[in-house]
Amino acid sequence: MHAAMTRAWLIGAGPGDVELMTLKATRALAQADVVLVDDLVNPDVLQFARADALVVHVGKRGGHPSTPQAGIVAQMLEHVKAGRSVARLKGGDPFVFGRGGEEQQALQAAGIEVEIINGVTAGIAAPAAIGIPVTHREHSQGVVFVTGHCAGNGEPDWAALVATRMTLVIYMGMRRLNDIVSALLAAGMSAATPCAAIESATRPEQRHALARLGEFADAVARAGLGSPAIVVIGEVASLALARAADDASGSANNETVAR
Ligand code: SAH
Repeated sequence: MHAAMTRAWLIGAGPGDVELMTLKATRALAQADVVLVDDLVNPDVLQFARADALVVHVGKRGGHPSTPQAGIVAQMLEHVKAGRSVARLKGGDPFVFGRGGEEQQALQAAGIEVEIINGVTAGIAAPAAIGIPVTHREHSQGVVFVTGHCAGNGEPDWAALVATRMTLVIYMGMRRLNDIVSALLAAGMSAATPCAAIESATRPEQRHALARLGEFADAVARAGLGSPAIVVIGEVASLALARAADDASGSANNETVAR
């Protein structure tokens, strides 16, 4: 039977910079008959796909027109059942937000084995791109990855997160940034807490803003930053490199973070 030879991979394409893809990801991509690509994936990674691979772009960015999740899974099933190997390319890591878990469940429920190939998640890569080590031991005991986009699941318990005193790394947080900042302040987080927002991290168009929590939402608005961006809140944000701040033009980089 062909079924034994067919394969499905859930592949993390990393945050943008093609060189941050893993060897394992590029090797799997080079085998796939069909490549289903999310819109956060840098299209340059398709250089690792076979020239004759069928490439399908299936975006599902919040607030944008998109292919419904059920449709994406149906396409994957259809190809795999027809004996074609499928690489599902997702931005960052496939299991850090972005619904990789749901896709694995759907494939498994259909009796299809899926291999997970990790990627460098934006929540680590974006801070690092401006010199922020998310768990620097002099500043934090850990890091919390949290979504700022709360469809269906309810609001994160911001007060509980503040109480952990850990670095907060917020994905999908830009549209609700004002509300999130208000919730953190209301929960007693200091208005002097250093914050960073990094847009399009590891890509040529990367930009960022640094500010204290009290001025952060304004600084981000003034810099005109939007999605996709990672928000970092915590003392580690004070370690953002001065050089990175100087490089990015047109944003509020040097604004308010005393060093
Ligand atoms: N699986 C992905 C996250 C998907 S959720 C990962 O592991 O990185 C989508 C969110 O990821 C975006 O809203 C944004 O918060 C973040 N993101 C992804 N790529 C990014 C990039 N290059 N720069 C900044 N943020 C990014």
